Amino acid sequence: MPNLNELSPAALKAAMEGGTQAWGQIGSASENVRYAEPITPKSRKKCWCGCEGKRTHKGMANGVCLTTACHMGILRWVKTGSVKAK
Ligand SMILES: [Zn+2]
Repeated sequence: MPNLNELSPAALKAAMEGGTQAWGQIGSASENVRYAEPITPKSRKKCWCGCEGKRTHKGMANGVCLTTACHMGILRWVKTGSVKAK
């Protein structure tokens, strides 16, 4: 059980929707609620979605970071499960 006070608003929403079983231990992009969190400090790694930008956000599920990309890429991942545009 995570400390709900320490969760970001996005994480809290995902926890409310999907529950908190194995939170922070097992995250599945297909079985858990996907959400985005900003990377702090900002990563200098290049994003791989094809935008030529930097990775600024984490793709999270069940408290586990599954991927990182730019904001657009992660928003796409949250919506579709894929960082790259089809
Ligand atoms: Zn990108």
